[in-house]
Order: sequence, then structure tokens, then C-alpha cells
Amino acid sequence: MTKIKQGEDFLTKDRDYIWHSMKPYSPDSTLIAEKAEGSWVTDHKGKRYLDAMAGLWCVNVGYGRTELADAAYEQLKQMAYFPLSQSHIPAIKLAEKLNELLGDDYVIFFSNSGSEANETAFKLVRQYHQQNGEPERYKFISRYRAYHGNSMGALAATGQAQRKYKYEPLAPGFLHVAPPDLYRDADQADMNGADLQSVKDIDRVMTWELSETIAGVIMEPIITGGGVIVPPDQYMKGVKEVCEKHGALLIADEVICGFGRTGKPFGFMNYDVKPDIITMAKGITSAYLPLSATAVRKEIYEAFKGSEEYDYFRHVNTFGGNPAACALALKNLEIMENEQLFDRSRELGDYLKQGLSSKLKGLPFVGDVRGKGLLVGIELVKDKTSKDPLGTDLVNKVIGGCKQKGLIIGKNGATVAGYNNVLTLAPPLNIEFEDLDFIIQTLSEELKAIQ
Ligand code: PMP
Repeated sequence: MTKIKQGEDFLTKDRDYIWHSMKPYSPDSTLIAEKAEGSWVTDHKGKRYLDAMAGLWCVNVGYGRTELADAAYEQLKQMAYFPLSQSHIPAIKLAEKLNELLGDDYVIFFSNSGSEANETAFKLVRQYHQQNGEPERYKFISRYRAYHGNSMGALAATGQAQRKYKYEPLAPGFLHVAPPDLYRDADQADMNGADLQSVKDIDRVMTWELSETIAGVIMEPIITGGGVIVPPDQYMKGVKEVCEKHGALLIADEVICGFGRTGKPFGFMNYDVKPDIITMAKGITSAYLPLSATAVRKEIYEAFKGSEEYDYFRHVNTFGGNPAACALALKNLEIMENEQLFDRSRELGDYLKQGLSSKLKGLPFVGDVRGKGLLVGIELVKDKTSKDPLGTDLVNKVIGGCKQKGLIIGKNGATVAGYNNVLTLAPPLNIEFEDLDFIIQTLSEELKAIQ
């Protein structure tokens, strides 16, 4: 365990030595976490915070689960590593378990991160079309506002210009369409998939780009990083039908929605649809160890079964599906099932949404409270008529105020490039009801403070 020497100045050392992945909200407010238990994190000075963002890093079963540490430890002692160009038992058992959750029609390719799981999907889909005699199918369609990862292909698929423009040109062949936005177009809620403008747009883009050049569509069932955008119920099904019409494959990015976040094992299960490919990552181990997976319908896998060497999927990584991460993932899924966390996510999520709606909706800046399961977004607007996003300063003030009171929440959005006006809540799936009350109360106080 890391030992802290009395009087050591970690804030200064942090600033001197660590290049953080995102700029902190304020240069001197970095939270240096030392330990964590359940839904609570303690910093190096002993202050406790409720981590209502844990679900974005996907600590779905909560912190401090020693069973998970033990599962990895036992496996590391028995056999620390062996590559999946051969095989090993923890990976076989995990692939079988994932199939059980997905509905038994998938083969699993393991890797290490969500970005890598999506890169795997893109390469695999392009090669699949080549094996099928359609090498010109290389274009992918994704949605504005969605995030799919940080590598050159996954970032190309990402629909948030502000994350991309400094690194362009990215991988070619990625196109974007607008996602549905029920907050601004509430009349779409009960529409048939085929009647939704956002589905028609995908259909038209595929036609205009020439169907025979389209490889696939990638989408999160609910856009998370773009501001918790819950689609109309028939949307995903509509997208799948359009994919089938044009010979394209549908990839569901379940990096956040997967493993119970939305009240079902996987997000797509809310929408009566069967994706061709499903990518998943951190939630598979509740983020205790890096592991990700790309699940591929067996029919697609069959196309790679030629006897020639050039028919292989020429894609490899060293640590994907390593034994310790797989053993830990199996234990994680066992905990989820034993504690019925998929159902609990739904039950707790309803409680949180109801509480937030009744306490916050009357406030002038609170435009919308939405979500599914324990993935909840609160869209902050300048006024409720224009629905223009609230300015970053005020949004940050709410986040900073919550942090002072010991509550970690996030912001997402990109309604307009540069705006991040949706407060995001995604606590562990086994959070206590009283902790949900603390979230509701603290947010209510901080949102009232900026009126
Ligand atoms: N897809 C989605 C939907 C994500 O939210 C993320 C990151 N949170 C990724 C992909 C990339 O995952 P990673 O950070 O593990 O590469």
C-alpha cells in the first residue's frame, strides 16, 4: 500500500510530475485520492467525497471490493500471463459468461480499453466487407456529440469537434449525423423509428454517400459524454433497419451503458434490437483492472474462417484478455448477478430522477432532468424558452460548490462546441438511498445558490 510521509506536499508534486488527462476545474483543486470504500473516496488529507461520477469510470460495484482483488491475486499466483493467440481458462469462461448475458450468439475479441475495443470493431468490419467481396465499404457513420475514444479512428468517430480539431487529420472515412434530442423535440418521443428525422437522416446520408461504400454505424444506446441523450424508444431499432437496408453493420458502443448502468445488462436491451457488434470496456471489471471486449455476431466471424493466412483478422494486442483481468471480470459479473445490480440500477435511478425532478425542476436554470437507470443528466440552460446552454462559469460554480460539500459530479454536453452544460450523475450501482438523498440535497442547494 502507498505510504504517505508526514508533511509531504503532494499537490506540488502532482503539478510538477503528472500530465493530467483533462485540465482540472481549477488549478489548485486537484483531488488526490488515497482510499475508497463503497461510493465514497477519501483524499490524502482525509476529506471524504461521494463519487457520483464513479459510473463514468464504471466502478459499478463500488470501491473496496476485496473479492475482486482476491480474484486477481489468486490468478496472478496461478498463472500471471499467457497470450490469447493461444488460450487460457479465465478468458474462455469470461467469453462464455458474456455470451450468456448477450444472448449466446457472439464471439469475443479481448483488448484493453474502450478506444481499442472500438478500433478493433472498425478494422474488423472493414475486413469483413472485404472478405464478402465488397472492399469499397469503408465509411462509418456516427453521431455528433458522441464520444468513442482517443485513438485516431475512435476520435474520428467521435462527434465533438472541440476534442478533435487540434489533432486532425484523423482516420479518414468517418461521417456524422445529428442524434435525436428529446429535450428540444419532445414530440418525437413516441414516433416510429422510420418516421424519426434522425433516422431518415442516416438513411439519406447512406444513399447520398452511395450505399455500397458504407461499412457501418457506431452508436451508444444513450450518448453519455455528449450530455446523457436518451433517444426516442424506437430510434435504435430504426437505425438497425436502415443499416440492414444498406448492407451496413451496427456497432453498439456499450463502454458506459454496458454492465447495468441503464438498468439492463446492456444499454441496447432497452431498445429491442440486436446489434451486429458490441464494444464494452471498463464496466466489465468495474474498472478494477483494464480490460475491454468486442463481441461479434457469429455469422460475421464465420466470414473470417477461410483457410488462407490472409483471411485471418490481422490484429493483435499483448494484454487484452490477460488472465488476471478476466478472473476479476468473472468475479465482478458474479457480484452484479448476486446483488441484482441491474434491477437495482433501475430502482435507484428512478428514485434519483424523481427526487431531482421534484426538487430542481422549478429552478430557473434547470431545463431538463433525464436518464435511464443510474445514468442521469441535468441540462442547465440560460432560460427555459430559448434553451440556450448555461455558461461554463456558472456550470463550474455548481460543480465546485458540490465538491466543497463532498460531492463529485461531472459535466458533459457539447450542445454547442465548447459548452458543457449537462451535469452528469452516475454513482455506483449499489449506492445507498441516503447517499442519493445527499446528492439531491447538495445539488438543490448549489443550484439555488447560482440563481
Ligand atoms: N466509448 C465511450 C462511450 C466512452 O465513454 C469512452 C470513454 N469513457 C470510450 C469509448 C473510450 O474508452 P477508454 O477511455 O477506455 O479508451
